Amino acid sequence: MPVPAVELRRLTKLYREGDTERAVFRDVDATIEPGQIAVVIGRSGSGKSTLLNLISGIDLPTSGAVLVHGADITALGERDRTLFRRERIGFVFQFFNLIPVLTVEENLLLPLELTGRDDAAGRARARGLLARVGLADRAGSFPDRLSGGEQQRLAVARALVHDPVLVLADEPTGNLDAATAEQVFAELLAEARGRGLAALIATHNPDLARRMDRVVTLREGRVAPV
Ligand code: ADP
Ligand code: MG
Repeated sequence: MPVPAVELRRLTKLYREGDTERAVFRDVDATIEPGQIAVVIGRSGSGKSTLLNLISGIDLPTSGAVLVHGADITALGERDRTLFRRERIGFVFQFFNLIPVLTVEENLLLPLELTGRDDAAGRARARGLLARVGLADRAGSFPDRLSGGEQQRLAVARALVHDPVLVLADEPTGNLDAATAEQVFAELLAEARGRGLAALIATHNPDLARRMDRVVTLREGRVAPV
C-alpha cells in the first residue's frame, strides 16, 4: 500500500463557547490516496474550512493527527509547520487572497521566493504555468485589473507553482458565475491530474462534486459513510 496523501486519525476539533464546548468534528478517520481528487461537501458551517485549515496546518486540532504523505504535521512546531506548508501544500482560497501591491507575475513567484526556488528554471516554469492559465499577457498587471475568473486562475497557478504534493481549495469557485467557475475548475483539475497530485476541494456545487474521484461529506461532526 502506498503512503496516503492525507490521513486523518481520530481528528477532533472543539470550540469553546462560554462554559460549553462544541465539536466541529469528533474522531474523524479518513484517507485520501495519492493522485486522488476528492471533494468535501457539507452545508455552511459543517466544518469544510476548518478541515482544510487543519490539513494545511494553518490550524491545529483539539486532538488527533493529520499526516501528509506520512508526515505528522500536527506534531510539528509552528515554524516547521509553516515551512512544511510552504513547500508541500498549495492552497486556493475562495476570495483569491492575491496581494494587491504585487503584479500578476510577482504574485505567482511569491511561493518560489518563500522557498528559495525563484531561480531561472523556477521562473521559466512559472511563465509556462501562467500561459496555461491564459494569463501570459497579463504578467505586469495588478490583480485589481483582472476579472474574478482571471484572479482565481492566477490563484490556482500560485497554488501549483512550487510543485506541492497536495492541493487544497476552499470553495474556489464559490464567488464566480457558473461559466467562469467551470473554467477555473477545469484548469485546476487538468493541472492536478497532469501532475498526479492529490487534491481536496471544498464545494457547494453538486455538479462539480460528481466529477471527482471521491466525495467526503461532512454531517453533524462526522464524515458521512459513502
Ligand atoms: P464551513 O466552511 O463548512 O462553512 P467552518 O469550518 O467555517 O464551516 O465552520 C465550522 C463551524 O465551526 C461553524 O459552526 C463555525 O461557526 C465554527 N467556527 C469556525 N471557526 C471558529 C472559531 N475561530 N471560533 C469558534 N467557532 C468557530
Ligand atoms: Mg468555509
